[in-house]
Amino acid sequence: MTIQENIPLAPLTTLQVGGEARYFAELKREDDVREAAQFAKTRDLPLFVLGGGSNLVVADSGWPGLALKIAIGGITTPTASDATSSAVLFSVGAGVNWDDFVAQAVAQNCAGVECLSGIPGSVGGTPVQNVGAYGQEVADTIESVRALDLKEDRIVVLPKPACGFRYRSSIFNGAERGRYTILRVNYRLKRGGAPSLKYADLQKRFAESAVEGKKPPSLAEVREAVREIRRSKGMLIVPGDDDCRSAGSFFKNPALSEAQFKDLAERAASKELEIPSYPAARSQDKDAQRKVSAAWLVEHAGFSKGYAMGAASISHKHALALINRGDAHASDIVALKDEIQRGVQAAWGILLEPEPVFVGF
Ligand SMILES: Cc1cc2nc3c(=O)[nH]c(=O)nc-3n(C[C@H](O)[C@H](O)[C@H](O)COP(=O)(O)OP(=O)(O)OC[C@H]3O[C@@H](n4cnc5c(N)ncnc54)[C@H](O)[C@@H]3O)c2cc1C
Repeated sequence: MTIQENIPLAPLTTLQVGGEARYFAELKREDDVREAAQFAKTRDLPLFVLGGGSNLVVADSGWPGLALKIAIGGITTPTASDATSSAVLFSVGAGVNWDDFVAQAVAQNCAGVECLSGIPGSVGGTPVQNVGAYGQEVADTIESVRALDLKEDRIVVLPKPACGFRYRSSIFNGAERGRYTILRVNYRLKRGGAPSLKYADLQKRFAESAVEGKKPPSLAEVREAVREIRRSKGMLIVPGDDDCRSAGSFFKNPALSEAQFKDLAERAASKELEIPSYPAARSQDKDAQRKVSAAWLVEHAGFSKGYAMGAASISHKHALALINRGDAHASDIVALKDEIQRGVQAAWGILLEPEPVFVGF
């Protein structure tokens, strides 16, 4: 294990802003993760765990402690020998690129993650905010998470119920933030399973297949369609596309109570507008009845796609993505975020909650 000093973090993130990590290590083995954690503990250094850097805003002042990039690889299928079952367990190293794993699962005709194609970042990052898109979320397929418990200094396997998955949250970014370094994630997929077509854009695209006599789309076709939709929205990392120099969606879709939603819908109706909404999963958000589109709120508070403030702007393809136009500092991104939050609050009385993780602020 090598600990490096004063390593720039911006190139390790998709938004590409922020300063240096005082100490940095890239780790491929579980023992090295343990050793590095010990290094931080004995020197009383704050620890930050980095995956693919696709959900981060790193402060211009950088990270004063140790940043660990988890690079543990390997995709194994321990249940492959059970030919009678359609369930296939994939044990995937936290450092594996998420989309490489999805591609492999789809190539092996295993359903469960096809709609999550094209999401950047690492496998270890996926349980943290319960990554989701186009009608699927990783909580649907995660069986368990193997992690180093920094509090107890031991390796644990957390079964799914212990992970506390909800919309864009889990114990890893909630009650137990900073306690676990994820080493591997185990996903239970279904061999030969049908692709999920819950999302309207996907249903529309494959509407013809639904006509009697036509074959339903394959997992590979759904994966390709998802990637195409994502590309059109700047939500796929495509070299040379400035609109994907972002941290993905910058704000969460707010969950409103029935009364709050009614009030908002009435105010929208008085302007002859209708706000897109969908039912919140009640088991996940007890008091919330409806989720409303954060992108709609942003656009209807006067912030159109391409709206710029200095070197930071809203993507030209998606109202929820804040992008670095090339030479932005973290402070530019934060100033734009603040401006949008203020504008949406003034227009609609809702404080948008950011989705990315702020590091070193
Ligand atoms: C263009 C674009 C599109 C996106 N689309 C989506 C989308 O559709 N849906 C969605 O949910 N997200 C989306 N995102 C956000 C992001 O890709 C996901 O949240 C992703 O899972 C983050 O993984 P990462 O490895 O990059 O994590 P990082 O950004 O490196 O870290 C994010 C958080 O996870 C923690 N973390 C990372 N790895 C570990 C580990 N091994 N152990 C413990 N903690 C860890 C970090 O400490 C940090 O708190 C998008 C981002 C971009 C740039």
